Amino acid sequence: MTLITEAKATLSNVNDPVILEVARMESIEPDNLARLIARGRVVIPANVNRDITARIEEGGIRAVGERVSTKINANIGTSRDYIDHDEEFLKAETAVKYGADAVMDLSTGGDPGVVRRNILKKLVIPIGTVPIYDACLRGGAVVDTSSDDMFNAVREHAEDGVDFVTIHAGVNLNTLERLKRSDRILNVVSRGGAFTIAWMLHNEAENPFYEEFDYLLEIASACDLTISLGDGMRSGCLHDASDRAKASEDIALGELVQRSRSYGVQTIVEGPGHVPIDEIAFNVKSMKHLTDFAPLYLLGPLVTDLGGGYDHITAAIGGAVAGVHGADFLCMTTPSEHFALPTVEDIREATVVTRIAAQIIDTVKSGVCENAIAREYQMARARKDLDWEKQFELLIDPERAREMYERRPSSEACSMCGDLCAIKMVRDALGKNKKFRS
Ligand code: SF4
Repeated sequence: MTLITEAKATLSNVNDPVILEVARMESIEPDNLARLIARGRVVIPANVNRDITARIEEGGIRAVGERVSTKINANIGTSRDYIDHDEEFLKAETAVKYGADAVMDLSTGGDPGVVRRNILKKLVIPIGTVPIYDACLRGGAVVDTSSDDMFNAVREHAEDGVDFVTIHAGVNLNTLERLKRSDRILNVVSRGGAFTIAWMLHNEAENPFYEEFDYLLEIASACDLTISLGDGMRSGCLHDASDRAKASEDIALGELVQRSRSYGVQTIVEGPGHVPIDEIAFNVKSMKHLTDFAPLYLLGPLVTDLGGGYDHITAAIGGAVAGVHGADFLCMTTPSEHFALPTVEDIREATVVTRIAAQIIDTVKSGVCENAIAREYQMARARKDLDWEKQFELLIDPERAREMYERRPSSEACSMCGDLCAIKMVRDALGKNKKFRS
């Protein structure tokens, strides 16, 4: 029984430990949560081949979607040019330390199974992969991969315990036709999307994941693998955003979401890449409507193409705006995006910046803003009291703030203004004035 079928069967008598744990973590009534899962509006990626009990005990369960806090994912993984399995694991650990809710292994160099199995063994949070990378890179030429190789890679990842997989099933012949007729500059920048298109053109055939989607669902339902429907047509520059190729893919994704739900398979939908800031609301809302409000997972969106070296910030700005309009799951972009495989330090920086974007979203997100605002309120009180320890406790990255604070020691205030601390002056002045004393 998958989580969706379990939720449907126990709507008013929830006893599933995963649902109960998320209800506790997210301060939501279990039956409300079960309803959201049954409708596909919340997913809890938790492959039954992993030790669910241990993950619950160690805080490794996460929910994505409506009325639960915004989650963030960190991408790690080797490339053809740079293969260091230990460094990739260190990146995963660093991402978890700085607040990642999930880690995706996108390895394309060396043996991808090494990184995947290592993080599955040592981390408790949801782990995601893109099995087509594995399938296409095993044999040599991408276009020579058989459809069996593709499905077998998904099955192997699922049996290993991977919680969610990106599948570019919305890249079909119709989408491809829209792409051919488009005036895109960058055409396709999604690696999985590019593999799929190259394969379809070479083999003059439909995308196997689209054509045999029910077979994919059969594999997924066997271990409650969550399908993250990839955005193979995501725009790679502002010029290419919000076009017919992407709209065509989104329509296909909406239909696939419907089929997944009827099969009891949890589904996430992935969103666009580079998007002008004033088109984000349209993109998020149209994707939500076309996919019947499936949880939306975004890479960025990057809101300018000129932020190279700082694209973690460009993406976090876009992610925050998207979250305000309904995006549920943010995939971090690192400062190295477009230039190099990220370092461990890049992963730290990107995770923190994306975590900040998630907090910004949660201060206004329905159902979760109370907790997020309470934390903001506590910070305001700590600032008023010049209570530095409390401030560090509440911050998203206390290490960096403490390092800055201790770099230039001061008295009660900080070295920015010293004795001229506005907070201290006004607090002392008001304290001396009887009229303002409490
Ligand atoms: S010294 Fe200046 S910057 Fe530091 S806490 Fe006081 S007002 Fe803020």
